[in-house]
Amino acid sequence: MTESPDPARVGLHAAATTCLFDLDGVITKTAVVHSAAWKEMFDDFLSSRDGLSADQARPFDPRNDYDRYVDGKPRYDGVRSFLASRSISIPEGDPGDSPEVETICGLGNRKNTLVGELIRRDGVEAYEGTVKYLDAVRDAQMRIAVVSSSANCRAILESCNLLNYFEEVMDGIVAAERGIAGKPAPDTFLAAAAALGATPEQAVVYEDALAGVQAGRDGTFGLVIGVDRVGQRADLIEHGADIVVDDLEELIK
Ligand SMILES: [Mg+2]
Repeated sequence: MTESPDPARVGLHAAATTCLFDLDGVITKTAVVHSAAWKEMFDDFLSSRDGLSADQARPFDPRNDYDRYVDGKPRYDGVRSFLASRSISIPEGDPGDSPEVETICGLGNRKNTLVGELIRRDGVEAYEGTVKYLDAVRDAQMRIAVVSSSANCRAILESCNLLNYFEEVMDGIVAAERGIAGKPAPDTFLAAAAALGATPEQAVVYEDALAGVQAGRDGTFGLVIGVDRVGQRADLIEHGADIVVDDLEELIK
């Protein structure tokens, strides 16, 4: 084992020193949990709301609406973005709003409550190929951060016994506390790279969401790796992925 990073062993360019991993859908199989929770929350909201056209009230599409409007974004941005796509306007509210309240924040909190219930009921699993890749990047002396919009990031990593891989945890809680803009803005990735002493060129972004690869491209990172779990390779490339893999294990040399 060498003292300096050996990025070629993990499929990365020679300047790479630092790996920035998204959580949901890259490390853990939680993207499907989030998609299901968004659908349940939005469908309840749409079916109970008066005065909507048939098109506005159409059920949430867990594939297209999820990919376009909510995946990878901070929770309230996801609510705002999807409702805007249906030309539905409700008050912003306040992060302290109860999940019963029909505001942007209230609906976001309702979705978060559902995610918590699903995770408690079903548990969380990590992708085996990602765990092998995390071992390989650690052995290759790369520095490792997780960059997630999720407020549950630490708890989820802890529940899979993976928290100790990460020197830096840039999650939804830290970003909110420090006023850092969430994905698709590149700011959370840039902050995590800086915290580990890396320039954007030295950092690699691993993302499964369209908003996430867009953040990687806009941050001018050395490499943006799209992880395609649902057959959206072309969309990942269009939004900013330099390469796309089905599983991170493919990158281990
Ligand atoms: Mg993701």
